[in-house]
Amino acid sequence: MNRPAKSAGYVARTRPVVPPIYQSATFYLDDIAYKDIQANDGLGEHWYSRFANPTVDAAAAEIAELEGAEAALMTASGMAAIATTLLTLLQKGRRIVAARQVYGDTRDLLVRDLPALGFDVTMVDAADIDAWRSAIDAAPTTIVYAETLSNPQLELTAIATVASLAHRAGAQLVIDNTFATPYTVNPLRLGADIVVHSATKFLSGHSDVIAGAVVADRETIVELQRRVITLGGCLDAHAAFLVWRGLQTFGIRMDRAQSTARALVQRLRANPHVAAVRYPGDGAMVSFVVHGGNDRALAVMRRLRVASEATSLGGVETLVSAPFNSSHFSLSEQELADARIDAGMLRFSCGIEDTETLIADVEQALAA
Ligand SMILES: *Cc1c(COP(=O)(O)O)cnc(C)c1O
Repeated sequence: MNRPAKSAGYVARTRPVVPPIYQSATFYLDDIAYKDIQANDGLGEHWYSRFANPTVDAAAAEIAELEGAEAALMTASGMAAIATTLLTLLQKGRRIVAARQVYGDTRDLLVRDLPALGFDVTMVDAADIDAWRSAIDAAPTTIVYAETLSNPQLELTAIATVASLAHRAGAQLVIDNTFATPYTVNPLRLGADIVVHSATKFLSGHSDVIAGAVVADRETIVELQRRVITLGGCLDAHAAFLVWRGLQTFGIRMDRAQSTARALVQRLRANPHVAAVRYPGDGAMVSFVVHGGNDRALAVMRRLRVASEATSLGGVETLVSAPFNSSHFSLSEQELADARIDAGMLRFSCGIEDTETLIADVEQALAA
């Protein structure tokens, strides 16, 4: 007869080396657990996995440590991390000043969804400090939002300067550190209040999971956790396990990807088919502009044999995309110009393949 089994709640005497995947929606409760849950407003003991799950906690602890943060919160995606953070902070006020050069779906959230809910959003050029200052000072501001590296130009945002402008106005600075990663910068140390991540990218590193994270002080994380409970963007235990496992090789993956990126940049700068190279000096992301515009860029991309054409980044495999054709396809000519996306631009996310094999492949694609 079909009968649901009661788990014995078996506990090994010895401890596992890797966190078990607690693939359980709910947990048996006893008097002690009830008391703890009630005393901590639902956030004490594990009792229901939308509130907290031990495997998810294990991934969060690793990311908090990497970012030098007191605490971290895992979410179902990078967009869940961003949307939950912005909706939570906007409760206290209604205005956000954001960089124009942000991830495509973040841009849609900022220019379409948040204004539809009655929030006021002003966009500025990420590299223009005077524009940040006048936009932040123009009206009471709750949130200032930027990415460490603008996409796809890969220009560094002056985080410390923007943080002081935000704080002077009583606003909080939220930084998306997905592209730069904690391998190159910890925005909290530079004055950011909250850092968001698409853990789908370099943190997990294997293009096999969608996940997000937020890091901040403990009080802020608890506040955000309460919103994840009602908005529902919690991370699943199995996905959290994949993030945790990817994080175990984060440093060595980034060592290789960065050294490949630096070598690629040197060779691209010497290549007559390349009009410009954009590289911030650290990390694994490289953008460059080929002579001959978008059609030529597409032709170069399609001749690649080692790097693959795909829209994500941060995996062990090198991924290449043409922003005008993928992340920014919905932008008009004017919006592309405003976002400073040059015709013929390609964006590389360096993986961990053999460096010389990868560069030789790029060179043959450019020369053909
Ligand atoms: C991918 C990405 C996101 C969205 O993350 P998902 O995990 O796909 O939801 C946000 N910001 C940046 C910079 C990204 O690259």
